[in-house]
Formats: sequence, structure tokens, C-alpha cells
Amino acid sequence: MSSASRRPLIAGNWKMNLTLAQSVDLSRAVRDGAASASGEVAVCVPFTAIAAVGAVLKGSAAALGAQDCHWETQGAFTGEVSAGMLADAGCAAVIVGHSERRRLFGDSDEWVNKKLGAALKAGLTPIACVGETLEERESRKTWRILQTQVEQGLKGFSPAELAKLVVAYEPVWAIGTGRTATPAQAQEAHAFLRGQLRRLHGEAFAQSVRILYGGSVTPENVDALMAQPDVDGALVGGASLKADAFLRIMRFSAAAPASADQ
Ligand code: PEP
Repeated sequence: MSSASRRPLIAGNWKMNLTLAQSVDLSRAVRDGAASASGEVAVCVPFTAIAAVGAVLKGSAAALGAQDCHWETQGAFTGEVSAGMLADAGCAAVIVGHSERRRLFGDSDEWVNKKLGAALKAGLTPIACVGETLEERESRKTWRILQTQVEQGLKGFSPAELAKLVVAYEPVWAIGTGRTATPAQAQEAHAFLRGQLRRLHGEAFAQSVRILYGGSVTPENVDALMAQPDVDGALVGGASLKADAFLRIMRFSAAAPASADQ
């Protein structure tokens, strides 16, 4: 499999935003735009919006996702939602290990690994996030951090079990900051991550896994990012809350010259 055969995925992460009415409006725009998107489309919405957005997206080309799950199937875990409950509610995907969960809510690599397993068991597409902080990048720890996050996050699963895996490279310094990794920085990290996937499970597996870039993706920078051979899509936060911006990102062109803004 080559980059040409990895179908691009543009996933929106709405985080803790929007009323139900706003969620319905935005999801209608995404649904209508999904048919002419340059790849697959998903929106990862707050738990409270899953039913309403699911009703809008039903039967469309846009998939419904959530932003987190618990690893247990059920029980006394106040405030938590299981992967099976998400699947039952109509979700096809779930983000695990987002840096905001890691930084603000204590999600460790071990938890991410458990959440990933729960998502896979429930038949969901896990979007597993990895990425270094600015301090880690500046102290040249990027590769060590990414290697650990991939090794620990994917620990214990066979390539067959990981068939639906999507990885998102999200440098923490680029999330919500307006500071995007350059296409060259993104490509370098994605190639490194693909190398880690190859080391763990071989070439065919590495070539089959989609690696999304996340971190201040906008209509202005998406084409140059998507032109990179190992960038298979985007996980979009802020810009996924604005219909015009997200629709333009969904219609990216990967034909932009790779040198556009390096
Ligand atoms: C994110 O939340 O995953 C993200 C990448 O956010 P933003 O696009 O706003 O940087």
C-alpha cells in the first residue's frame, strides 16, 4: 500500500463547544459538504451532541465520532462513557490520548493503551493522538517521546487487531496556538512515526495506517500539509467549528507544491 491508497481523513474535533442548535447547524453543513470532500470526513463531538449530530449525519458520507472513552464496558465510573456506549449511540470513531486529556486530565500512555483496546473491541476507529510539547522539542526529545507514546499506546495488539487504527501527530505546541508545524516538520514526524509502526509490525502494516496531522490546521495551510507523502489527513480543532473553514479543509488539494511554506 502506498500513500495513494491510504484514503485521506479529515476529522473535526469540536472539543467542549457549541449548543445543540449550533451543533445541528454545523453538522448539516458538514453533511452537505461531505459528498464533495477530497477524502473521508468525521466530526468528533461532545457526548451531549452525539444523538442530535448522529441524526443529521445518518446515511451521509460524514462519520460521527466522540472525543474520549473509558476502557471498561460498564459499571461504577461516574462521569465516564464506554466505547460500547459510543458505538451503541451511533459513533464510528473516537479520539484517544488527545494532548488535552493527557495534560489536563492525567491520561497516561497506559490509559491510552486501554482506551485504544476498548475502542477496537467496540468496533470503533480509534484516532490515537501523539505529540511532543515545546519543551520536549527544544530539548531534542521529540523522537524519544513519539517512540514511547507509540510503543506504549499500541502495546499488546496485533496488526490485525489494529486494522482500523488511525494515528494523529499533534505537536502540543501547535494545538490551538495558531503556530502550525511546517509541512517539512510534519512530514519528518510522520515519516518517523511510520518508521515506528514498521518497526513494530512490518512494512505492510506501516503503509496501511493513516497518520493525520493536527495543530492549527486552516484553509490556508491544509494543502501544503496534505501534499506531504506521509500526511494522510488532518485532525482539526478550532477551524472545525466554522463551516466555511472546515468545508474548505475537507476540499483540500494535495497537489500543492511541497515547498509552498517550508
Ligand atoms: C485539536 O484539538 O486536535 C487541534 C489540533 O486543535 P487546533 O486545530 O485548534 O490546533
